[in-house]
Amino acid sequence: MKATVSRRRPLVSIFCVPATACLLLVGQYLVLAAPADGLSQEEAIARRRMVEVQIRGRGVADACILAAMERVPRHRFVPEHWRTRAYDDRPLPIGGEQTISQPYVVAAMSEALGLRGTERVLEIGTGSGYHAAVLSECAGRVFTVEIKPELALTAAKRLLGLGYKRVRVREGDGRLGWRSRAPYDAVVVTAASPRVPQALVEQLREGGVLVMPLGEPSGSQVLVRGVKRHGRLEMSELMPVAFVPLVGP
Ligand code: SAH
Repeated sequence: MKATVSRRRPLVSIFCVPATACLLLVGQYLVLAAPADGLSQEEAIARRRMVEVQIRGRGVADACILAAMERVPRHRFVPEHWRTRAYDDRPLPIGGEQTISQPYVVAAMSEALGLRGTERVLEIGTGSGYHAAVLSECAGRVFTVEIKPELALTAAKRLLGLGYKRVRVREGDGRLGWRSRAPYDAVVVTAASPRVPQALVEQLREGGVLVMPLGEPSGSQVLVRGVKRHGRLEMSELMPVAFVPLVGP
């Protein structure tokens, strides 16, 4: 029997860029389909561009962090009236005089932790929950503490609603860490303080990494990376930054 090869093109062909968008070839027409997380075509393009230009373009190379930045729907973490700016190269207000960090800063801080996928991570300053979501894509568990009750509640509900099951949110003063879940392989602080709170050093395991902005709220701040050796942090400076202050209750 002779084999026959159909020359007819299938009615619909689908080419997907993971977590970004799908191109549907319907007959002779090419259609850009919105992905499952409710992104518009413009947002899908903006998110892809954000990763390429703002993040990969500035030197972030960790494949998991790049994939996480591409996957996590940042537009779901900002107030509705800021949604069209969600993938812009800037921090955005999230209420309570707080901000969601600039995408590049989230990516650079996350990369500096050197995650391999199994770590227990402590984040101080949940804010919108966006950074916690990014971390959870590349770590084992994420524990995050937020001092403002309304932000903690909103972030917890949002993360649950979006299916981030490996993130736990707690309301409280993050300067005290989250002792019952310690030790942590990595600690990230997303608010600035003149010095590293001692409780965070204690709750970090030997060899673990801490990343945080050090400096005065209205003065100059620098992002530092500390590795715990013999109970103390060996520090190096990463870049100048501007964060909201780490405050008391
Ligand atoms: N990581 C957040 C952005 C953080 S903005 C995101 O992805 O959206 C800094 C956050 O730190 C604010 O929400 C602020 O309320 C919180 N914060 C300030 N001081 C704190 C403290 N002592 N303990 C816990 N959270 C604190």
